[in-house]
Amino acid sequence: MPRPARLNGVQVSSSAVSTDPLSWLDERAAERVDAGLRRHLRVRAAESPAIDLASNDYLGLVRHPEVIEGAIAAVRRWGAGSTGSRLVTGTTAEHALLEAELAEFVGAETGLVFASGYAANLGAVTALAGRGTLVVSDAGSHASLVDACRLSRARVEIAPHRDVAAVERLLAERTEERALVLTDSVFSADGDLAPLAELHRVTRANGAILIVDEAHGLGVRGEGGRGLVHEAGLAGESDLVVTATLSKAFAAQGGAVLADARIRAHLIDAARTFIFDTGLAPAAVGAARAALGLLRRDPAMAARVLARAADIARIAGVPEPDSAVVSVVLGEAQLAFDAAQACREHGLDVGCFRPPSVPEGTSRLRLTARANLTPAELDTIAEVLGEVLENARGKEPVSA
Ligand code: PMP
Repeated sequence: MPRPARLNGVQVSSSAVSTDPLSWLDERAAERVDAGLRRHLRVRAAESPAIDLASNDYLGLVRHPEVIEGAIAAVRRWGAGSTGSRLVTGTTAEHALLEAELAEFVGAETGLVFASGYAANLGAVTALAGRGTLVVSDAGSHASLVDACRLSRARVEIAPHRDVAAVERLLAERTEERALVLTDSVFSADGDLAPLAELHRVTRANGAILIVDEAHGLGVRGEGGRGLVHEAGLAGESDLVVTATLSKAFAAQGGAVLADARIRAHLIDAARTFIFDTGLAPAAVGAARAALGLLRRDPAMAARVLARAADIARIAGVPEPDSAVVSVVLGEAQLAFDAAQACREHGLDVGCFRPPSVPEGTSRLRLTARANLTPAELDTIAEVLGEVLENARGKEPVSA
């Protein structure tokens, strides 16, 4: 192989190498188009008449006047940005209040707010696991937990979905002193639930810490939306860490870790996504506090999300879900994509999950319920979704 030439200390590519370093992207794009997997950003209209069955605004609070006022008041008081990392200038009194209120709400000893739920998961896992730790993660855990595993430098084992016996085996057979078990409480693609009580029993029996991502559980499951950990009677357990997002039921942006005080103190010292990230913007903190306040005043909102999800499932002809997520599996990616497009053309904004978000052959419409869906909106959903699904299922290959 000829030695690469150097010009003024800069390496010059040899003539055998393509001169366009982006050409491989064209090949990837063509493959994705062929597989029906190219993704497109859809710009949402501010005043869209479409019925929202795609967002994570489970409580329907994103435009609630008190939530908007909460954001505005925080901006007026603290400014548009948090100005720095949480350890330097990025912690306001509003952050401290939100942390205390979130912790109290879920029944945890303390709270620590991060810039996103993604950052909360990365921070919690990488600070609590490292070389010499075993991390066992459910096969359906969110991408942020998957990435957290990769960054942790721990030995990582993926347990089959919701398989407590497999988790128990992996923990019992480990040689590492410390272990961490990771799971979503409500899995984001299918909306199914983790067996938290059993998982906690085996993590405790084996001296491990259980981290539960409550992104889709808070505001929806448990008494007054306190989450599935609370519902399972596990709130406040010192060996259980709850991670949360403020971007779904809490109608804002940001994330949190709700845990034992020793864990909070350790994360402040060691969680890189806490230390090296700018503090959450005041607007998001103020909005999330207002949304949490509204949920506390009207705790039945959580039950209304589940009731509306049951309505949508009935319309779609799928089993009643355990969460806000109604998953309508159609099969091939193109079939799901076309069905989603047809819904959108008729005024229903729906989600469409395709590989790699879900396994091959299980592409689906993902419909999310909102506490404030009206009877008139449900009538429209019945009309449009009924017809779209009848068409799609008529085209479905037998094997799908
Ligand atoms: N965990 C789960 C289960 C999620 O669905 C999401 C967001 N889609 C996150 C974590 C990340 O939260 P955030 O969007 O606040 O970064």
